[in-house]
Amino acid sequence: MIIKSTEFIKSATKPAHYPEGDLPEIAFAGRSNVGKSSLVNVLVNRKNLVRTSSTPGRTQLINFFQVNNDFMLVDLPGYGYAKVPLAVKKDWRPMMETYLSKRWNLRGVVLILDIRRVPVEEDLQMLAWLRAFSIAPIIVVTKCDKLSKNERAKQSAIIMARMGLEKKDLNFFSALSKEGKDGIWARIDALLAQASALPEIEEPAEAAEPAEATEPTEPTEPTEATEATEATEAAEAAEAAEATEAADQSDKEAESSPRVID
Ligand code: GDP
Repeated sequence: MIIKSTEFIKSATKPAHYPEGDLPEIAFAGRSNVGKSSLVNVLVNRKNLVRTSSTPGRTQLINFFQVNNDFMLVDLPGYGYAKVPLAVKKDWRPMMETYLSKRWNLRGVVLILDIRRVPVEEDLQMLAWLRAFSIAPIIVVTKCDKLSKNERAKQSAIIMARMGLEKKDLNFFSALSKEGKDGIWARIDALLAQASALPEIEEPAEAAEPAEATEPTEPTEPTEATEATEATEAAEAAEAAEATEAADQSDKEAESSPRVID
């Protein structure tokens, strides 16, 4: 992907404020501090298009960026940060479900997971929504530079088991080494190409009156995605401890060291 331009368009919390137009969209989701801003910045070759968060989880906005006048990248609010007030946490679920079910030009969601952490309930919920609304997922496992090859394999197995994923579903990434960047773009490109491959409607031979521009069809109302909750409860007891402890320890160390991407 050759990036010619990237531009912040606007922030929104509800459909009335989403940008108008029909550009296809790719959204990015993940828990706070997972490395979402770093991933987007690496993808578009910008140091600071998306701000790396100094206070994780505080912003609960959907941020829209336009790339090359061709498509949108959408930064969804991070989730799962313990210190976020309960009221803010409660907003996340309806805000996400509304965006995912109603955004008709959404072509795919990049779901970002930390290689060192066990996926949280919201990660499972995101994946369940994507399945329920038939939105293509691109699973990115990030911060891979922090683990050895052996540890990577071990952590991948935990992530796959918890999320019900296969190895081929995982895109390993590092904002530090840029490992995985091309593969992720290839997946995004494929989804954007699908969007523009819709069959063209033939003009009627003799149209007495110009046809009215057809409104995009609203997706049908979402059914409750309960699968994720069940999967969560089943898996809840399973692992969590070891990997998360290691990641927390390493995050504490990271807090006192400079950002990888600034
Ligand atoms: P966000 O809250 O999901 O947007 O996360 P950020 O992009 O702000 O990243 C959170 C922290 O993780 C920052 O200190 C980043 O420098 C660091 N980070 C992000 N991606 C990577 C990565 O691939 N490797 C390493 N080593 N650190 C990363």
